[in-house]
Parts: sequence; C-alpha cells; structure tokens
Amino acid sequence: VATKSTKTKRAVKDRRPKRKTCNFCSDKAIDVSYRDVNRLKKYVSERGKIVPRRISGNCAKHQRMLTVAVKRARVIAFLPYVSE
Ligand SMILES: [Zn+2]
Repeated sequence: VATKSTKTKRAVKDRRPKRKTCNFCSDKAIDVSYRDVNRLKKYVSERGKIVPRRISGNCAKHQRMLTVAVKRARVIAFLPYVSE
C-alpha cells in the first residue's frame, strides 16, 4: 500500500516565533486595569479564555497583571467566564 501520510511535519527551523513586543511596555501611558474592559477583551478569546503570553506577546509582568485584571473583571461581571 503506497499511501502517503497527509500530515506533514513542520520543520523546526521554520517555526520562527515573531518577536512581539508587549503592548503595555511599548505604551507607557496605558495601564492594566480591570475597568478597561475594551482593552481586556483583546486578550480574551471568544470562548472567554485568557490569551496565552506566547500569542498575546505580552511580557511576564504585564501578562500577570492582565490575568489578575481579567479575573477581577469576571468577578464583577465585566467579562464572561465562558461564552458560547
Ligand atoms: Zn510589558
């Protein structure tokens, strides 16, 4: 049987992660706040999950602040825990 696997392995060297800069670091004026729902929404997936750092590109410090802010926003119902 000469069936070739359709699944192609991606070469490791091709997987070059783009160096994203932290949005909060690049703009000193903006602050991570749980009241800033419109900004927080950008870091929450459509399912209501917090976007991981490797995708959002935030630095560790700001990602942590963001996580806290999102969780706080959920408690006071600014953001959903889960959305369908
Ligand atoms: Zn940052």
